[in-house]
Amino acid sequence: MVLSLKACKIPPKKIEILNQMSLYDAEDLLSYYPFRYEQLELKEYDHWQIKDKVVFEARVITYPKSIRFKGSRTMTKFQVENEDDVFDITLFNRPWINKMELGQVITIIGKYEGNRKVTAIQYNFRPLNEQLGIQPVYPLKYGLTQKNMQDVLRRCFDNSKATIENDVPSKYRERYRLLDKKDAYEKIHFPENATDVSLAIRTLKYEEFLKFHLAIQLIRKQNEKVEHKQGKNFNFDDVFVLANHLPFPLTKDQVKAVNDVLEDLQSDHVMYRLIQGDVGCGKTVVAALGMVACSYSKKQAALLAPTEILAKQHYLSLKDLLRSTDLKIEVLYSALPTIKKKEILENLKEGKIDILVGTHSLIQADVVFKDLGFVVADEQHRFGVEQRRKLLDKGDKVDFLLMSATPIPRTLANTLYGDMDVTTIETMPSGRKEVKTVLIEENSFRSVLSDVKEILQEGRQIYVVCSAIEESENFSARNVVDIYENLQKQFKGIATVGILHGKMSSDEKEQVMQDFKKNKIQILVSTTVIEVGINVVNATCMIIYDAHRFGLSQLHQLRGRVQRGSHQGICYLLTDSKEQESLERLNVLVKSNNGFEISFEDLRLRGPGDILGTRQSGLPAFLLGNLVEDTKIIETTRKDVQEILDESTNIENERLIKKVLLINENALSTMD
Ligand code: ADP
Ligand code: MG
Repeated sequence: MVLSLKACKIPPKKIEILNQMSLYDAEDLLSYYPFRYEQLELKEYDHWQIKDKVVFEARVITYPKSIRFKGSRTMTKFQVENEDDVFDITLFNRPWINKMELGQVITIIGKYEGNRKVTAIQYNFRPLNEQLGIQPVYPLKYGLTQKNMQDVLRRCFDNSKATIENDVPSKYRERYRLLDKKDAYEKIHFPENATDVSLAIRTLKYEEFLKFHLAIQLIRKQNEKVEHKQGKNFNFDDVFVLANHLPFPLTKDQVKAVNDVLEDLQSDHVMYRLIQGDVGCGKTVVAALGMVACSYSKKQAALLAPTEILAKQHYLSLKDLLRSTDLKIEVLYSALPTIKKKEILENLKEGKIDILVGTHSLIQADVVFKDLGFVVADEQHRFGVEQRRKLLDKGDKVDFLLMSATPIPRTLANTLYGDMDVTTIETMPSGRKEVKTVLIEENSFRSVLSDVKEILQEGRQIYVVCSAIEESENFSARNVVDIYENLQKQFKGIATVGILHGKMSSDEKEQVMQDFKKNKIQILVSTTVIEVGINVVNATCMIIYDAHRFGLSQLHQLRGRVQRGSHQGICYLLTDSKEQESLERLNVLVKSNNGFEISFEDLRLRGPGDILGTRQSGLPAFLLGNLVEDTKIIETTRKDVQEILDESTNIENERLIKKVLLINENALSTMD
């Protein structure tokens, strides 16, 4: 049983604040973990060194005096005394300190400046001996103090500890000498030493990963249970013969990927597979051969693309790849003329179209297939679970293949995508050049101007990317409209500047794209609409404003646009961020051209939510666990979950499974 915050005797005012932090019951609150710990140690006065962090108790002997500076900054000074000496205390930006009484004993934590002077970081009226040792530090909001947090946690723990149950079955607690859940909570919030903290974290992390794997396995089991189908009937050789007609030999990993897909199509399980590989590794041809196999078995296939530009691009390259076949391929998107649309829809219904490429418009109700057998989705993170399900519902037991250009290392993929089968393409086609990337710590065109002029002189074209379309009050980034106007002035008579963004109509976009392709435009200022799909070999330079606002994987995809031919591409990342972490992140792109390394770094720094998008929403979040660092616990818990599912009639196992099912109800009901 989980107690309410009220039952834990937490004052109503505090409950209001906790609710704002999305903490609603004892379990929520006790899983609100410190993000770091502070170690307060007593050091004898004789041993104090300049710059030491010191903590001591003393009596106030002069009234605090504050001086005001410009703005609202203040400096307050007063004196205190103890058995050791008299000290001069300085405190910044705490003008309300003059509530202090003479003779009052206070505890000061601060930095020793030498000469009996201390700059206080913190002071309080609690006895010193209560504060020594290890102290948790919580992420705080809404005016809550660290002390408030410790108080509510203390009440919560004391009042609810009798009701805290173990979720991890005793077999595993014994096997790995894990703590009881109750003890783990106690040690993580009220530790006596560093060992307490690490024991608690070890136990809680184990539980977190165990529940994560269990959730994923339950989803997988549910998929397998419902999804049996009649295997598709075609000849492997017929498909591979076609591969021999391609203008290039498939790479080793492409062959393996095609095999995985064909086997899935033929098997009596419904395919639920992910193909992941770096930008340009050649995923499209794998999907194409899969779709060919599907049509050989007399069923229709669909390819879902995130944007209209990409849909058209896929359509053209499919037609090109499959020109030696007599398969009928069409493309559907909302801006298509009504007559053409009507024709496609009719042919689709009558089974006269084998492969249909399209945007979200494929999901619309009036799109009816005669016999849909296979759906491929490109760029998984842009499609919601709901949209995918709607498309799958247009056929019976439809095989499903997802393509991702945000590849992550194989072991990690097996964890995060545990409910899918994963194929990883690691080898790149030979002869690929890497884009040269330069980080410029200034958010202005000035620093690239002379390079740009040179590039234009050579007759080459340039992309300029901004994160915003137009100026906005709460967003300080450079925007497409302003930059477009500036560059127009700057390059008057030298180059034609074009503009491209998502708010333009389909026709306008198409026109600009064509003009850029024909080199009527030399500099194209745009948002990330060019991220995927645009293929202009003569554009060999990209300038990205406010680079720190983008994800690393996204930047990696963007720069891929300027290495389409044999000429060396170059990408300038502009930023005025002074944050060390942002700069380090961007430097990953300067050093590496490997999509696996780059998304791994994204994952390490920003967690899975950002890079994997909606797919994992509803699954348990990692409060303590780190997907990149905790590989051993991840492996162990994965095996243990298998055992737990095999012994699902054991009372403790059954209880855990029920609990995880309940928590993940949402994710489970939408995944089927
Ligand atoms: P992505 O995996 O990023 O979707 P694509 O499928 O668009 O990559 O392929 C990128 C380019 O590489 C295309 O022009 C494609 O024709 C080409 N390509 C694919 N496979 C090979 C190969 N084995 N050898 C040479 N070029 C290839
Ligand atoms: Mg692609």
